[in-house]
Amino acid sequence: MKSQGHLCATCGYRHLKLPQRTSSGGASHEICPSCGFEPGYTDDDQNISTLQWREQWVSNGCQWFGKGKARPKGWNPIKELHSLLRRKRPVNPPVIRRDPADNESTAPAESSKRAAAKRGRKPLKRTA
Ligand SMILES: [Zn+2]
Repeated sequence: MKSQGHLCATCGYRHLKLPQRTSSGGASHEICPSCGFEPGYTDDDQNISTLQWREQWVSNGCQWFGKGKARPKGWNPIKELHSLLRRKRPVNPPVIRRDPADNESTAPAESSKRAAAKRGRKPLKRTA
């Protein structure tokens, strides 16, 4: 029977001895032999996010990190990465809402200065 370890959230490696983070958020500090990510160090101390580390690792050709540590048989970083990304549902892109103010008709220009048009006193011609 194949024993599966814990998943590396960076590369999808599935044979970590410890969960990368405990439920209370504690880091394992177990260096992933696949990608080299060390929870609690890479992210907390070096301030490199999982995503940034992954991009770096991928751009370097997904190289096996663990020197002197045998790769698991059939290790396929691309496959593992793909299954990791499939597992993680991408965050929905933010919905861009059109500003309803766009549709608001322009308010009519300030009404003519009626107040200023004061009626001049006109003599009333009243014929009885
Ligand atoms: Zn990894």
